[in-house]
Amino acid sequence: MDFTGKSVLITGGTRGIGRAIVEQFAAAGAHVAFTYRSSADEAAALTGKLGAIGYQADAADFDAAEEVVQDVVAERGCLDVLVNNAGITRDGLLLRMRESDWDLVVQANLKSVFNYSHAAYRPMMRQRSGRIISISSIVGLQGNAGQSNYAASKAGIIGFTRSLAKELGRRGITVNVVAPGYVETDMTSGLPERTRKEVIAVIPLRRTASPEEIAAPVLFLSSSAASYITGQVVTVDGGLAL
Ligand code: NAP
Repeated sequence: MDFTGKSVLITGGTRGIGRAIVEQFAAAGAHVAFTYRSSADEAAALTGKLGAIGYQADAADFDAAEEVVQDVVAERGCLDVLVNNAGITRDGLLLRMRESDWDLVVQANLKSVFNYSHAAYRPMMRQRSGRIISISSIVGLQGNAGQSNYAASKAGIIGFTRSLAKELGRRGITVNVVAPGYVETDMTSGLPERTRKEVIAVIPLRRTASPEEIAAPVLFLSSSAASYITGQVVTVDGGLAL
């Protein structure tokens, strides 16, 4: 896919799925900007290797989102693609879940999507074109014991996306969700080996995904090949949610 000269912004671009998305867009010729919260070394490495611009900005911060988007538009003249990828987990059964576990997850995973989509709305509207892709999860579709905060945030992204797709369609902007299953990243590296084996046993493809396998459909949804797709949830899970 060719994204030569396209301006792309990815939240949470320093590790895991976000990093794979940064790398694939850069390889496809895009001008890439990304955000991160604390992984400054990884950010510097990406900037050195790919020339991508890194912004240290908590995705939950509304004003910071506005500033990042304004800066990207000032630097590149436009914003063609926004990928809302930043996300965290604070797992626990509801009885033991602290209020802070709920707030942190909902703010980092769902409010962040509002923040960056809100900031991108005006520039994309002026361009009369744009792509917004948000990373949800099959947990947002199916639920998962011990992840009620995470599931709520990821389900919220889907409702938000469907509403925004209806709102922005007439402006030439598409809004979609990619919902991964089990992906090998730092987020899942802490799971016990037994749990990992149990999950793999029920995945029809009998393996987990690489971050690159999630990045590929994100690039597809950002490309001209996907120009008539909006408001959709693309599940990328090896068949786990079937
Ligand atoms: P990861 O390896 O933990 O990487 C998360 C990335 O997001 C890092 O670059 C991190 O930057 C950044 N980030 C986290 N919170 C942030 C915040 N508040 N502001 C800005 N950046 C922030 O996670 P991942 O597995 O790649 O997950 C990426 C997305 O995919 C998440 O939305 C996750 O929920 C979703 N997902 C993952 C899986 C999976 O199996 N891994 C499955 C379904 C969905 P810092 O290091 O600077 O904090």
